[in-house]
Amino acid sequence: MRTAAELAIAGHHSFLALGTRATATLQHLCASFRRVWRNASNDVPFLGRITTAAYAGFRRRWLQATLASGDAGFRRRIRHSHGLTTNSPTLPYNPYVMNEQLRPFLASRFEAMVDLLTEIVRTESPTSDKAGVDAVGAIVQRELHTLGAEVHVHPQTTVGDHVLGVFNRGAGSPIAMILHVDTVHPLGSFAPRYRREDGKLYGPGIFDMKASSVIALYALRALQGLTAFPNREIRVLFTSDEEIGSGTSKDLIIEQAQGAALVMVMEPALADGRLKSSRRAVGHFVLKAHGRAAHAGGNHELGVNAIWELAHHIPVIQSLTDYAKGTATTVGMIRGGTASNVIPDFAELTIDARATFQHDADHMTAVIRGLQPALPGARLEIEGGFDRGAMECNTERLAIIERMTAIAATTSLTLTHGASGAGSDASFTCNIAPTMDGLGAVGDGLHAPHEHILLDSLIERTAFNAAVLKDW
Ligand SMILES: [Zn+2]
Repeated sequence: MRTAAELAIAGHHSFLALGTRATATLQHLCASFRRVWRNASNDVPFLGRITTAAYAGFRRRWLQATLASGDAGFRRRIRHSHGLTTNSPTLPYNPYVMNEQLRPFLASRFEAMVDLLTEIVRTESPTSDKAGVDAVGAIVQRELHTLGAEVHVHPQTTVGDHVLGVFNRGAGSPIAMILHVDTVHPLGSFAPRYRREDGKLYGPGIFDMKASSVIALYALRALQGLTAFPNREIRVLFTSDEEIGSGTSKDLIIEQAQGAALVMVMEPALADGRLKSSRRAVGHFVLKAHGRAAHAGGNHELGVNAIWELAHHIPVIQSLTDYAKGTATTVGMIRGGTASNVIPDFAELTIDARATFQHDADHMTAVIRGLQPALPGARLEIEGGFDRGAMECNTERLAIIERMTAIAATTSLTLTHGASGAGSDASFTCNIAPTMDGLGAVGDGLHAPHEHILLDSLIERTAFNAAVLKDW
């Protein structure tokens, strides 16, 4: 004899089984309609939209009904099986139906994605080559026009033009996607390096971050194709000078972050696919010493040796390195002097400085800028500073990651996060708007000859980014 509670749970389970079968059938029908219709019209069809909407409506009502009833364990099971993260039985806007469809949608366009990526990689674009960078900009503009974006070109003289695409201007709370189309690879790198092998695609700049352009463009395309494009302003900025510090694009990047609900910095993921939850501050300084020239033999006592002056400061600078705190300083280049028998009147060195926490960056700046001449008669000149601040992994960032992880789960992607030692444009936006970095492809060989992406990651990261655009 079963208790009333057991009967109730058995009833729920039957309902669950029935619902699962019914939704699977509908989903199957839906996919068939779309397949048939796509052959005829080349795009997601009206009929497909109707079946998709009907399926979504049915699924939502079913979830609402099941989540509103049953015991805690049952609700937990339902939530788990649908990747839901809240207790809410009301599901104000049920994103989960569409998110399951993102990967299949993209999988059917996979070769087109690879073709677009190949076209972009073949168009080589080292930061210093304005023509090459502008040629990638032209491809991006073409794609944005195809998607129906407002396209704005911000002309530059020394570097490539920046390209901004805007969708749904003025609607909802905006999301900004930040990308760069320049690379560190010299012209002529494509032919010897491009190849597709073992599920990987190799090419100069493919990982950092030409694949990200394809991911962003196809995330938008998928949302349009599945009639799931969010009713909010979406700003997609392609800059041209990230690899040399974003000097001409910084203001434009900051402008896109203003008022944004989220800034998606599309830099590549960490090697194993993790998001980048912190970025070190990056600084560059030049320390110049002025002394007095004199003959090394004839009147040594009259000279002030600029190289010796600099030598006093190198230990101070290098000792700002503290691995436990995440700080590092490197005197990377040094030059001075004119002849071996002349006391040099000028010498200079460069300092690369990194800091995980902004207060350490501020301290390092104060120490370097506060250096005083050690030799009588010497003079110091100090230029530079931290051009990108630290993006710290604070509680706000962890909350963003938690939400990202939940959205990723709706596309069957499991995400974690980690620190990046390098800088990115995320440092400009992270104190202005919620910012997430490392949303691009998974791969390896950043800035190296073996730079590549994992081809599988194209679909999974595009689906994930589409879901973020829709559900954030
Ligand atoms: Zn990059």
